Amino acid sequence: MARIAFLGLGNMGGPMAANLGKAGHEVVGYDVVAAARDRHTAAGHAVAAALGEAVADAQVVITMLPAGPQVEEVYGGADGVLAAADASTLLIDCSTIDVATARRVAEAAEARGLAMVDAPVSGGTSGAAAGTLTFMVGGPEAAFARAEPLLAAMGKTIVHAGDAGAGQAAKVCNNMILGISMIAVSEAFNLADALGLDRQKLFDISSTASGQCWSLTTYCPVPGPVPTSPANRDYAPGFTSTMMQKDLALAADAATSTGTATPLGARALELYEAFCAAGGDATDFSGIVRHLRRK
Ligand code: NAD
Repeated sequence: MARIAFLGLGNMGGPMAANLGKAGHEVVGYDVVAAARDRHTAAGHAVAAALGEAVADAQVVITMLPAGPQVEEVYGGADGVLAAADASTLLIDCSTIDVATARRVAEAAEARGLAMVDAPVSGGTSGAAAGTLTFMVGGPEAAFARAEPLLAAMGKTIVHAGDAGAGQAAKVCNNMILGISMIAVSEAFNLADALGLDRQKLFDISSTASGQCWSLTTYCPVPGPVPTSPANRDYAPGFTSTMMQKDLALAADAATSTGTATPLGARALELYEAFCAAGGDATDFSGIVRHLRRK
């Protein structure tokens, strides 16, 4: 069993840290926000008062932070992880961030002789709580081999995607598919409404025909056909539109920096930006169906 410092105890990090504890690891959490630390303590878990205190004796450091700037600060700052960690410590960043930052932080870790992987997740807060997340992992084979059993305590599918940054590359490509496909499915239901076609009939046909996809069959954006989808609880998240906007912006940046044509990804980003600006920011991303209907 490992001594683990878990930094970032938010919607995802809190339950992920709890699952590591349940698996028998010795986990010390840390978050800059006192309320997050208090929530974690109240749930019966150990919390440190400062980052250095959490990292000092840790064999493994796991981070689950909002975005690239926080990851860069937490690892690279004067009192950050790279300065505080022992040379044998394994570093695992599970945050969703841009590929360039992931590679920069991994290089800085390597320069200090520290093993590191980027391991962003798919599966949302329900997957984090249930321990069924999918991890997409980038980094050297040896670091992946050390990380895999720890990730298995928080998820059920763990894929080694390639070298440093490959986990983030996989995440950004996957979520660009998701953002585009949710809009496609939403447009189809809105068109069906306008044509007088029953929603359930469209679902029954398309879910077994060539229109089949996750946005339709697991996360259907209209109430009814998939009882567990956010559409049945007035689009309470789930996965907010703000997060989808962030991930589509990461995809757009990656497309620009590599000179890749992603016209539908770019349009999906514009539509999510408009939806967020119109007040949909805290709504589940499948709520874009209502925004498109209003337009
Ligand atoms: P969150 O905002 O709930 O949690 C992030 C936590 O990091 C917060 O508690 C914040 O206080 C803490 N934090 C910020 N700066 C810090 C610092 N310097 N030191 C320590 N703690 C710090 O976000 P979340 O929903 O838990 O998402 C975390 C990451 O997971 C994001 O990158 C997100 O894109 C990704 N993700 C989220 C979901 C989801 O459904 N929520 C799904 C997949 C991936």
